Amino acid sequence: MFDIIIVGAGPAGLTSALYALRANKKVLVLEAKGYGGQIVNASQIENYPGIEKISGYEFATRLYQQVQKLGVEIKYETVIRVEEDKTVITKENTYHGKSVILATGSENRKLNLANESFFVGKGISYCATCDGHFYKDKIVAVNGGGNTALEDAIYLSSLAKKVYLIHRREEFRGEASYFEKIKKIKNIELVLNSVVTSFNGSEKLESITLKTNNQQEKEIKVDGIFIAIGQEPKNEIFCNVVDLNEKGYILSKDGVHTKTYGIYVAGDTREKSLRQLTTAVADGSLAASIAIKELNESEKNKKKEANFKI
Ligand code: NAP
Repeated sequence: MFDIIIVGAGPAGLTSALYALRANKKVLVLEAKGYGGQIVNASQIENYPGIEKISGYEFATRLYQQVQKLGVEIKYETVIRVEEDKTVITKENTYHGKSVILATGSENRKLNLANESFFVGKGISYCATCDGHFYKDKIVAVNGGGNTALEDAIYLSSLAKKVYLIHRREEFRGEASYFEKIKKIKNIELVLNSVVTSFNGSEKLESITLKTNNQQEKEIKVDGIFIAIGQEPKNEIFCNVVDLNEKGYILSKDGVHTKTYGIYVAGDTREKSLRQLTTAVADGSLAASIAIKELNESEKNKKKEANFKI
């Protein structure tokens, strides 16, 4: 029996683990992929207070090592169901907890074009920091207009010969400071008001077709494309214990409590107005602190009841 089972080893989940372990709770972290969540894809983080610059991978590794030193138990298993009684079922095992923190983050949004999955690893990537080095001195495209796309374009411009930054609108959603940098980088070409409509090639990606907002089509030769069009939550499996909004994010009364007592939510997977590293770790610490407080209260009440019976 674990005091707290944390689903997800991204910044929110690992921060919850850090707080819970420091409070001497028995903690299990379940993670389907690798630790770090989406932040490992960030080439450079420049807006985390107190750290001027750090790569997402380094940040995630430091946080992972910090909780590892506290003796965290992480199991790399995919959760398929959480019961109201805090039983957590993975593809491999069943675990019992007194409370559960859902910190499942989100997954890369796909363009959902015909041969997108075929070209993954053959020219299509969702992670510039992971795969950028394959495109040294080559021609690449980045699709998206948020912070991830802007950061990716800056990062790739130092490796690739040329970077097309393709965005479906005129204005970027990402921070102005990134855009100011991009304007000064000679090998980044902006392709605005355009969407990708097809991936072309036989064995590997050779070109992409774009459609402009005024319906004109053009083909661009690229060796690779980095798709950075945001994230989507995958919370349908938790529907029996939490409510979701229309986009699939978990609803909470106060940013932490879900509709089920003892099941909490933290990080990008919950409905919120700002999804950043700072808010993910804030969520993680708050969810753990509240879970710890409520666990302690319920233990106290149980002891009181037992004494009363005697
Ligand atoms: P995002 O902010 O949601 O941006 C997604 C971008 O992709 C938007 O520009 C959007 O266009 C575009 N898009 C969405 N669906 C599309 C489609 N089907 N076809 C073409 N374009 C599409 O996602 P993100 O950049 O991954 O960032 C996610 C969150 O993480 C944000 O809150 C971001 O600030 C945060 N983040 C923070 C850092 C950091 O703090 N250093 C780094 C990376 C990300 P529209 O603008 O037209 O909607």
